[in-house]
Amino acid sequence: MIKKFKPINKAYKFRIYPSQEQQELIDKTIGCSRFIYNEFLAKAKDDEYNSYTKYSRQLPQLKKEYEWLKEVDSIALQQSLKDLDRAFKNFFSGKYNYPKFKSKTKARLSYRTQKFIRPSGTTNIEIKANKIKLPKLSWMKFAKSKEVKGKMNNVTVSKSRVGKYYISINVSQVLVTIVKDNQGELGLDLGIKDFLTTSDGEHILNPRHLSKYQDKLAKLQKRLARKEEGSNNWHKLKKKIAKVHIKIKNVRKDFLHKLSTRLTKENQLLVIEDLNIKGMLKNSKLAKHISDCSWNMFTTMLEYKSKWYDCILHKADRFFASSQTCSECGVKNSKVKDLSVRTWTCECGATHNRDINASKNLLKQGKLELGIN
Ligand SMILES: [Zn+2]
Repeated sequence: MIKKFKPINKAYKFRIYPSQEQQELIDKTIGCSRFIYNEFLAKAKDDEYNSYTKYSRQLPQLKKEYEWLKEVDSIALQQSLKDLDRAFKNFFSGKYNYPKFKSKTKARLSYRTQKFIRPSGTTNIEIKANKIKLPKLSWMKFAKSKEVKGKMNNVTVSKSRVGKYYISINVSQVLVTIVKDNQGELGLDLGIKDFLTTSDGEHILNPRHLSKYQDKLAKLQKRLARKEEGSNNWHKLKKKIAKVHIKIKNVRKDFLHKLSTRLTKENQLLVIEDLNIKGMLKNSKLAKHISDCSWNMFTTMLEYKSKWYDCILHKADRFFASSQTCSECGVKNSKVKDLSVRTWTCECGATHNRDINASKNLLKQGKLELGIN
């Protein structure tokens, strides 16, 4: 699996609760920001638009003329010039109208300030618990409904027309998506001796301990049959059998989990046979029962894990004679019908292992049904 990082910007909006004094300063900053915007827009109209850099150099002179500009957050004033710069750039692109003056009654009541780190290492904006510190305003409470994650860029302070105050915190975050790096495709032939065989030629055996416990179980069950039902020994034996059953279940489950995880993670396409056609007649009832359980559990695991790991699980057509058809030339060889034939050579010259050939056919058939060439 490959993790892909994509940078995104996100805004968190919260209501803030400034004191009377803080409200007045916010109102003043909003007013000053609007004043700066309109002042430089007027300059641009008289002459022609200059650059953000040139205009921001004129700010100190303006502050000497209008002393009250010094009372508010100086970054907000610079940000106002940035907004004007953006408006002109939009206009020059030909897609927008010439910038308009901001009206006291109609324009949005807001200003924006930017976060920066001072040489001393402290920052001009801080968040602690449910309090935020903004330049010139100091600490105030906000309705923190969620954690602010990511790198903070700027904060917009706004006031609604009914007099409520808000902050919008803009942050840079990284969006993590998972992309599959292994593009394998496999046909899986389920069996009894080998639990499964893949079209890549891998034989996956049943877990080593399983047959040991299965033998033990068979012996215990034979002994149980000879005991008098309901007797002490019968009950003891019953308990023992139950324990072996649990052991088998756990060993099998663990094995199936590991295998299904690996296969769905490593491949983008898995083709299996519909289990109903699996005619495993030559095996004892017990072995068949256990295999059936394993296959059903395994298929269920493949089904949900393929969704987790972005893999397609396809059940091939049940009437498909997968083991008798040559995966090289497509000719059907009916002599292979006999289950004891493990390897065979087709008239085309290809020599096949029965199970590998079957899984190769499964993959072919699955792709055909899905329309994959
Ligand atoms: Zn052939």
